[in-house]
Amino acid sequence: MIFKDKVAIVTGGTRGIGKAIVLMLVREGAKVVFTYSKSAQEAEKLIEETGKLGAQTIGLQIDVRDFDKAKELIERAKTAFGGLDILVNNAGITRDKALMMMTREEWLEVIDTNLNGLFNVTRNAIVTFLKQKSGNIVNITSVSGIIGLARQTNYAASKAGIIGFTRSLAREVAAYGIRVNAVAPGFIETDMLAGLKNEFKAKMIEHIPLSRLGEVWDVSRAVKFLLSDAAGYITGQVLVVDGGLAIK
Ligand code: NDP
Repeated sequence: MIFKDKVAIVTGGTRGIGKAIVLMLVREGAKVVFTYSKSAQEAEKLIEETGKLGAQTIGLQIDVRDFDKAKELIERAKTAFGGLDILVNNAGITRDKALMMMTREEWLEVIDTNLNGLFNVTRNAIVTFLKQKSGNIVNITSVSGIIGLARQTNYAASKAGIIGFTRSLAREVAAYGIRVNAVAPGFIETDMLAGLKNEFKAKMIEHIPLSRLGEVWDVSRAVKFLLSDAAGYITGQVLVVDGGLAIK
């Protein structure tokens, strides 16, 4: 158990990649607080599932877009479990549309959730990490933020922003024993891809050298590595988990 008794926060933990990260952390002995925005039923089920693994897990309905709620999230984790060691910024949304059709609301909603939300949670957590001179952050970005994808100007901008944020913060806090890295998934089978037609998915697979969509576990394993001592000399990096899609 490589994260035994570590306290972790995972934003957007109820579904998809976030859920896989919560389960990975719990299996490795961590005490986890996860957030969600709407999916209370999924949260209940996940708490039950982790309970069966013998873990205490807390699920909080906290919208990452709310700065004060993000502050409350950090305090709740520290009060419940006595500290904070790990932060995984995973919560994210898409509102894909060609730019000429995109509304200002669709632009702002994505930036506010994916980028401002990550600021809100990290800004509040970093105070604790700086004081204790330790901490480990993994941000979930996307290949979209690296290579760009049509109909995702809002999403790609938010995800490219996360990469700049990750590299800057890594430099800023390295002297305090805090590592900050990012994972950039390619196409992973989650609810986020549920709206896509099968023909479109088949077309996407043609562009993936490893000839398959990713699974949530492909991503949680990469997160596990970056959070582990095996990655103790790695900070400010973006680990791409995309079956080769974005090979340059
Ligand atoms: P899902 O849509 O399956 O899950 C998203 C999670 O984020 C849910 O738990 C959701 O909660 C939560 N969430 C959404 N908005 C908020 C908010 N405002 N406040 C708090 N929680 C929120 O997404 P994925 O698992 O597919 O994606 C997870 C991350 O991985 C995202 O950052 C995404 O951009 C990134 N990613 C995904 C890829 C993919 O192919 N799936 C590819 C590349 C990156 P609720 O259920 O309550 O809405």
